[in-house]
Amino acid sequence: MHRFFVSPDAINGDTVFISGEDLVHMVQVLRFKAGDHLLVFDGTGPEHEVELVSVEKNRAVGRIIRTYKPDTEPETRVILFQGMPKSDKMEWIIQKTVELGVAQIVPVITRYSVVRNADGKQKRWNRISREACKQSGRVLIPEVQEPVEYCRALGMWRSISSDESSGLSLPVFCYENETEKCLKDLLKCYNINCVKTVGIFVGPEGGFSEEEIRLAKDYGIIPVGLGNRILRTETAAIAVMSVIMYEMGEFDL
Ligand code: SAH
Repeated sequence: MHRFFVSPDAINGDTVFISGEDLVHMVQVLRFKAGDHLLVFDGTGPEHEVELVSVEKNRAVGRIIRTYKPDTEPETRVILFQGMPKSDKMEWIIQKTVELGVAQIVPVITRYSVVRNADGKQKRWNRISREACKQSGRVLIPEVQEPVEYCRALGMWRSISSDESSGLSLPVFCYENETEKCLKDLLKCYNINCVKTVGIFVGPEGGFSEEEIRLAKDYGIIPVGLGNRILRTETAAIAVMSVIMYEMGEFDL
């Protein structure tokens, strides 16, 4: 069944209103008509099976037949602190990490970030997040935040991890020049089943500066290496996200 996103205010009791681009797609491409069924989610958790009551030029009206909560959201909250990469890499990272189950993405401006602001792209990034949710069956839409300076990102992580509602938290700070501790060692130190919040830190193309590593350590964060090969920033983000999700049992059926 086709799945559509509507904003929460497009649902009123058991009535759903669909307009805009989705309506065009529904009518012109999918040839939907009254009586057809579709799935609707508004990004807040539930999903609805809807029967179309009327399809007009400017809007379609549907009636909710069934509401349920799909089991597509990970139990662990993973926050990706992504060093701002160049061009379209950020979009790719957003799409893939949302598919893998990220909860929140924070673009981070670091010493070696070439791109240093969202340049009006934040809206587009959030749209990509929404589309990835739609495609992957997720019901909570991860927010892609406004880019923040590196120090602020560390501060954010400190307040998230010290907040009791975050439960046990695990920072995975990927540092390309780390020679002592690898991701596997780090994961061995934690009872992974008790971890409720994970913060993944990945540098931009230029990597992290030594000063940034010192600062992370001041915040009690221990950097880890990901083996002997240097990965591109987008590869590192996806690889670590995959490992964490696997460890958390999110690849289980
Ligand atoms: N320009 C750097 C590489 C940066 S790679 C250099 O050539 O040394 C971009 C980011 O991906 C890094 O900052 C780190 O967060 C992550 N990364 C890539 N390869 C890694 C590895 N082998 N170990 C740990 N982190 C890695």
